[in-house]
Amino acid sequence: MNHQTLPTRNPRTGECDYAMPVVAPAEVQAVVAQLRTAQAGWRAAGVDARVAVLRRWAAALADRRDELIAALVADTGRHAEAVLEFDATLGALQRWCSQAPALLLDEPARQATIPFVRIEQVRWPHPVVGVISPWNWPMLLSLIDAVPALLVGCAVLVKPSEVTPRFVEPLRASLAAVPELAAVLAYVTGGPATGEALVRSVDAVCFTGSVKTGRRVGLAAMEAFIPSFLELGGKDAALVLADADLARAARSLAWGGMVGAGQSCMSIERVFVDAAVAGPFTELLVQQVGALRHNWPDIHQGQIGPIIAAAQVDIVRRHLAQAQAAGARALTGGHVVQHGGGWWCEPTVLVDVTPDMAVVVEETFSAVLPVLRFNGIEDGIAQANRGDFGLSAAVFSADLDTARAVARRLQAGAISINDSSLTALVHDGAKQSFKLSGLGGSRMGPGSLARFYRQQALLINEAAASPWWF
Ligand code: NAD
Repeated sequence: MNHQTLPTRNPRTGECDYAMPVVAPAEVQAVVAQLRTAQAGWRAAGVDARVAVLRRWAAALADRRDELIAALVADTGRHAEAVLEFDATLGALQRWCSQAPALLLDEPARQATIPFVRIEQVRWPHPVVGVISPWNWPMLLSLIDAVPALLVGCAVLVKPSEVTPRFVEPLRASLAAVPELAAVLAYVTGGPATGEALVRSVDAVCFTGSVKTGRRVGLAAMEAFIPSFLELGGKDAALVLADADLARAARSLAWGGMVGAGQSCMSIERVFVDAAVAGPFTELLVQQVGALRHNWPDIHQGQIGPIIAAAQVDIVRRHLAQAQAAGARALTGGHVVQHGGGWWCEPTVLVDVTPDMAVVVEETFSAVLPVLRFNGIEDGIAQANRGDFGLSAAVFSADLDTARAVARRLQAGAISINDSSLTALVHDGAKQSFKLSGLGGSRMGPGSLARFYRQQALLINEAAASPWWF
């Protein structure tokens, strides 16, 4: 089919060097209809057969590793992260394949509280699950919900971000090697209109992206009367307590704030340090962050990639300019700079920051760490719990009991202790977002499979008669 195309910008050069096909709403509907037809057989095949198919796909993906990494490099302007992203996605696929058969065993029949009634549970997968994903980890986030949904027995339609669509072509080529899977997993590229059509056509939707779009998707899903699972923005706080290993905290937070150039939902975006240790801690953090370099001109050097989405450049600039105009000081970095035709944020540590600054309140989504002080644990917890977001957080303390007690009072879905941003790579713990960071069941942990099916109860009366009959 001939498609309109949308020019796609390369984040390193600033040039539009790729034409993304825009799938029209009517075609989205047609693809969903095909997926829905194929899903019946996929469900009936059983989990072991589905695992076998997905394992073949894992091999097909591995065969195209270089191609997929090259596409992710072009999409995101970074190399080390593209390798990490590909390997983490493949690792998660293999892990789900190992775990799913045990997790999806039929529940044994059980007796109801009324002794002559037996209960048997049946799972009904949502026939077609729609996935809408963002640009920051394009391949990983397009598959993080798709893979468990497929294992449950759903068909899946993915609409990846229009900012980073290049990986879709090699991914489709890998799917072509596994026709049983290509019948139940499809990608449609396009912008908001394609996403809206997806929400109107599928039976459940998993959305990862901004709060603004997430709200629209949630409302559209309600209108369509389908469940929606929303994974939205974050402004993760880290608390460095007075007894923390400061060198460890500084090293971990430099990673948690700067990996992927801070373009992750679970990036550390606010650092709160006990005033008693703020001086030495900040010095260590500045050493760590100040040693980081842009991956320009050599993409294989340095740790900080470009700002991927053009629309983000002005947001980062505004946050930095506003903070510095209001008295914040950058102890390292502080600016967005241009190399070639792309934009890079200098790895930045800001001090003399006040709680009302945009860089503390709004999602910056860049290589910027504002450092704020607190006086005693109560004040630290209160400051960290301020704001609209509650995705994840971090606590550093030499005393595990204290760290645990603080963590239990932080309003966020996952708390890393003596490390930061662990949910980037550890997907085993169930976690649900607080506040505007999301809505719906956990995407992580074994229970996350429950998002993809309805439960049906068979209630079997084994007695000769029911005592309540007329
Ligand atoms: P975005 O909300 O702009 O776009 C996300 C996706 O929604 C894109 O595919 C886009 O085309 C699509 N879309 C836009 N309008 C739509 C509509 N009306 N209906 C349906 N789909 C529509 O987000 P983004 O800028 O691509 O991603 C960055 C955001 O994602 C950040 O806020 C970040 O924190 C968040 N994020 C969250 C998580 C998480 O797990 N919580 C993970 C990664 C990123």
